[in-house]
Amino acid sequence: MQLIFRGAAKTVTGSCYQIQDEGVNILVDCGMFQGSDVEDLNSKPFAFDPKSIDFVLLTHAHMDHCGLLPKLVRQGFTGKIYLTPPTSALAELVLLDSAKIQEIESRKNSNNKHIYSESMPFEMHNILYDTIDAQNTISRFVTKNLGDGFMPMSNVSVRFVPAGHILGAASIEIVINNTKLLFSGDLGRIDQSIVNPFSNSSDFDPDYIIMESLYGGITHQDRESTTNMFLNSVNNTIERDGNVIIPSFAIHRTQEILELLKISITSSCIKGNVQIILDSPMASRATRIYTQFASYFNRNFSYGEYSNENGVKKSLVIGDYGSSRFDFDELRYIRTAKQSLRLKASSRSIIIAGSGMVEGGRILQHVASYAPKSRNSLLFVGYQAEGTLGRAIVDGAKVVKINKRDIDINSQVEYIRGFSAHADEPTLLLWLNVQAKSSLKQVFLVHAEESQSKMLQNSIVAEGRNAIIPDLNESHTL
Ligand SMILES: [Zn+2]
Ligand SMILES: [Zn+2]
Repeated sequence: MQLIFRGAAKTVTGSCYQIQDEGVNILVDCGMFQGSDVEDLNSKPFAFDPKSIDFVLLTHAHMDHCGLLPKLVRQGFTGKIYLTPPTSALAELVLLDSAKIQEIESRKNSNNKHIYSESMPFEMHNILYDTIDAQNTISRFVTKNLGDGFMPMSNVSVRFVPAGHILGAASIEIVINNTKLLFSGDLGRIDQSIVNPFSNSSDFDPDYIIMESLYGGITHQDRESTTNMFLNSVNNTIERDGNVIIPSFAIHRTQEILELLKISITSSCIKGNVQIILDSPMASRATRIYTQFASYFNRNFSYGEYSNENGVKKSLVIGDYGSSRFDFDELRYIRTAKQSLRLKASSRSIIIAGSGMVEGGRILQHVASYAPKSRNSLLFVGYQAEGTLGRAIVDGAKVVKINKRDIDINSQVEYIRGFSAHADEPTLLLWLNVQAKSSLKQVFLVHAEESQSKMLQNSIVAEGRNAIIPDLNESHTL
C-alpha cells in the first residue's frame, strides 16, 4: 500500500492524502492551499489522475480541506464524496461561495484587460472552478453519521468519529485490505466550544496515524482568561460610548462569539444596553446551518467566570438552548449590501463582520468608519496570517489602505488568540495517547509549518514513539 502526501505536508493548508492499494485509489480531503507562499500550487495540475480516484473521504468543511474538490470534479473525478451531514451543509455553503468569488474575480481581471463586454459571455481565465463545478461536486456528496461504519468498496471499511474542532468535523478510521489507518483531521480542544470534543476512548487499533500538528510546541491560553480579556475589552469600549468591531470567521468563531455575548448579556456581564450586529451573509447562513444540527451541540459548556457590573462573579455556562443557542433580543442580522452600507450603528454597538483577516467583505467599510476614532475598538478573535490587513493592524500599523483611501487606526486594537478551535500540544499528545495501541507502527505529522511539527515530533519521540514529518508528494510504502 502507498500513502502519498499531496498537501498539508510541511505546510498548514492544502490537506490531501492519497492511498493506493490493490484495486483501491482514494483521497482523504482535497483542500485549497492558502497563503501567498503556497497559493500557486492550486493552479498546478493534480499529481495524479482525478479520473482514477475511486472516492473521497472528507474530514470537515474548512476550505483547506474541501476547497479543491470542485477542481477534482472539473478534471474528471466521478466518484462519491463521503462526509458527515453537517459537513455536507457547510461544504455546500463554502464551495458555492468560493466558486462565486472566483467568477467575480475573473470578471474583474477581464475588465482590467478591457476584454469584457457586458453583452457577451466572457471567458474565464485563471479560474479553478465555477458554480457548475461546485454544484456537480455537491451532487456527489454521500452523508454518513459520526460513529456509523460503512463500506465504500468491498475491501474498504470506514468510520467517521468526532474530532471536535467545528460542527461535523471528523477523524477517519479506514481499513483497507486489513491495514488500519487513522486520519486525525483537524482536532479540537478538550474545552471544545459548541460541539463535543473528541472521545477519550477508542476501540480502533491503527497501524498508522496521520495527525495534524498545527500547534506543536504551543499551549493555549485557557478559556476563562480568554473570556475575561474579551469582556474587559467590550466593557471598556462601551464605557467610552464606543463601538466594538469584530472581524470574524463565518464558521464556528462567529457562533462562538454570539453564544458568549448571549450568556454575558443574560448574566449582566456586559454593562448597559448594547446592540449586536451580525453583518455577514456567510456567517448568518453558517449560523442557520449550526442551529439545524442542534443535536450535535455540547451541553453546559463553561466560558469561565466573570465579575458582572455589581462585582458579582458569574459562571458563564451555556445552557441547553437547542436551536435557539445563538438567538437573543439584542442581535440584529444585516442582510443586503445596501443595508450594510447604510448602517449607522449607534454607539455601544458590537459589529461582527467578515472576512476574519480583513482581506475583503463588509468588515472593510466598518474598519474604515470606526478605526479612526479612539473610543472604538477593533477586537481580533481569530488567527491573523502574515501578509493580511488584519495582521498589519494587530502588528501596530497606524495607517492602512482600504479601497485606495488612507485610514488612520486610532481605535484600540486587541488581538485575543485564546479562541482557537485547534488542539494545542498537550491536547494533541492526549489524543495520540488515546489512539495509539499495540499495532501502531508509525505516526505521520502533517498540517503545520515544519517548525511546529518538529516540536510535536520531539515530544512524541520523548514518549517512546516514532513520528515522521513527510514532504509534499512524499510516498510511503505501508
Ligand atoms: Zn479545520
Ligand atoms: Zn485545517
